[in-house]
This record gives sequence, structure tokens and C-alpha cells, in this order.
Amino acid sequence: MRPQPPSPTPLIPLASALLAFCVAPLANAAHVIVISADGMRPDAIAALGPDKAPNLYRLITEGTSTFNARTDTHTTVTLPNHTSMITGRHVEGDNGHNWTSNGIPRIGQMLHRHKKAYLRSMFGVAHDHGLRTALFASKGKFILYDRSYSERNGVDDVVGEDNGKNKIDVYKFDKRTETLVSEFIKVNAEQHFHLAMLHLRDTDSIGHLKGWDLTEGSAYLDALMKVDSLIGEVIKAITDDDTFKGKTYLIVTADHGGRLSTKTHRKFDDPRNYTVPLLVWGPGVSADTDLYEINPSSRKNPGKTAPGHEDESLPPIRNGDVGNLALKLLDLPAIENSTINAKQDLEVSNSNTPPVPEN
Ligand SMILES: [Zn+2]
Repeated sequence: MRPQPPSPTPLIPLASALLAFCVAPLANAAHVIVISADGMRPDAIAALGPDKAPNLYRLITEGTSTFNARTDTHTTVTLPNHTSMITGRHVEGDNGHNWTSNGIPRIGQMLHRHKKAYLRSMFGVAHDHGLRTALFASKGKFILYDRSYSERNGVDDVVGEDNGKNKIDVYKFDKRTETLVSEFIKVNAEQHFHLAMLHLRDTDSIGHLKGWDLTEGSAYLDALMKVDSLIGEVIKAITDDDTFKGKTYLIVTADHGGRLSTKTHRKFDDPRNYTVPLLVWGPGVSADTDLYEINPSSRKNPGKTAPGHEDESLPPIRNGDVGNLALKLLDLPAIENSTINAKQDLEVSNSNTPPVPEN
């Protein structure tokens, strides 16, 4: 059962209203939408340019970004990288989430059972603090997250008011991304999600069919133009609605890239597979800045290499940064026991750069 949207004027006693306010100032909370474009290569965005990818370029010119973020060091496939985004952990190692499978999880399979320990997530932190969460996905295998963080499998909420074990309020799967995005916009307008993740499959699906082809007019670039226009619909829904306007952050990244010759992205040590974009846009985010340039003391541009995570003193920016970044933008603490961006030190504003006007 999905929780219903809260009534606009909840009739709760004053004391618990005050308590709820102290625990989570809902009325003032920002909104974060994490968009993962499956198989989106940054050099493909560059190949399209601002004329053919106006919405991605709007995020770039009004926000902070890099075309040189990294996937997980050892894995360049979908579920392991999305699990890193959601849990703030690398795939491998004692502190890793260890989810290496990329198929539709079998009945009963889930993150915690595989790890033999509960894996906390960005959804859990937000939900436990009284915020509303959603996952809209275009591949059926994302059921992994709905199942892992369900009423049955989620952990007790011990933060403030008990918001329950189900950490993802709304989970929706539709492989047609145009329908998925309209549905997201509609439900978001009703329920005002604070933390939502939107997964768009188009660039990956066409990549496997026709290759990650960056030549003008290719099917892959056409798919990226579609992704760009879907992101444009999300931007419009934000800027047209006073609930979201000036209070909403968009974080756009990808789980991996892909190759033309093989029509795959499994080879984890190939730059075409491990290089992903990361774009952040929203109130107070420094306009037209490079994420590495505003994070010189905590992140290092890896050039063409893919550094391992054994020494994390000066890591590259990773797609796995987004979970703890989203929580920071919501003014929430990092995911317990996470290791990527666990200090929430990936900055999106540079005091030397004037912030953008309200979006
Ligand atoms: Zn793929």
C-alpha cells in the first residue's frame, strides 16, 4: 500500500505538530530530483551542443558540472552503479554494497540479504526525517530498490517521528520514458516529493541496438536529444510551479557510458564506459562553473584515468557522490556507513561566483 499524500491542513495536536517541525521542517524543505540517464556519454552531450541539447546546456550554464565524473572503478553496468548512487558506497570491498548482478533480481533477492547486512540509502535518510521520496524507473530491474526498502524489508525509523519502514513512498516502472516522465510530473505536482530519482533508459537501449555512435544524426544522438527534451519537461514543471520554483535542485548523471564497436559497456577499464557527466542545478548553485574547479581540496580531476578507491584522499567526482549530495542539499546528514561523499564535501557553490537567480 502506498501512503496517500498528506492533507494540506493536517489536524494533529499542537504538541506533535511542534515536534514534527523540530525534527523536520517540512514547509521549508527543498526538493531534489536525481536524474540518471542510462548510458549517457558526456562527449555525446558535447557532440550535440547547446542547439540540439538546450536543456542539458541550460543546466550547465546555469549550474555547475563536469564531463569527467567516474562510474565505480570496477563495474560499468546499471544496477551496481545505481546502487552506489543510492547507498553512497562503492561496489566492492568490506564497505561496498557488493551488488554486482545486473539482471532482474529473482523473487526474494534484495540488497540486504545479499550483503548480509542492512544497506542504508538516501531514500531512508530522507524518509526517516519525514520527507517524501519517489523512484520512477524505466527498467524493471529497479524493483530491486522498491523491494529492498519496502514495508517488509526496510529498517525501523528511529529518527524523530516514526515514518515507517517503507522508505520509497512511490515506486513506478514504465519502460516508455515519455509516459514515465509525464506520470512523474503529474504525481510530483500532487505529492511534492522532496527526494525523487528518475531513471531514463533511452540512451542505453539504443546504444545496445545501434552502438554508442557519436556521428551527426546517429540513432544514439537522437536518443540523447529525446532525453534532453524529457529533462526539459522536468525543468518546465519546476519553473512553472511555485511549490518548486527556486527551491528545487536537479542532479543529472549516468550509470555508465558505452562503445560503438561492441554495442556494450561491460569493459570497466575503457574510458568510454567509465566516463560520465555530473550536472547540478538549483538555487545557490554557482552558474557556469566546473565542479572540479570549485572542489580543489576534496576532488581531483583524473584526466583519462579511472582511480581505484583504495586511497580516497583526493578521489575523482563519481556518480556515487549523488546520494550524499542530494541529502546535503536537503540539509540532511550523510547515509550512515556510506563511503562516497560521506563527508558531504562535494560543493556546488563557489563563494567567488555569484549564485544564479531563482530558477
Ligand atoms: Zn546497458
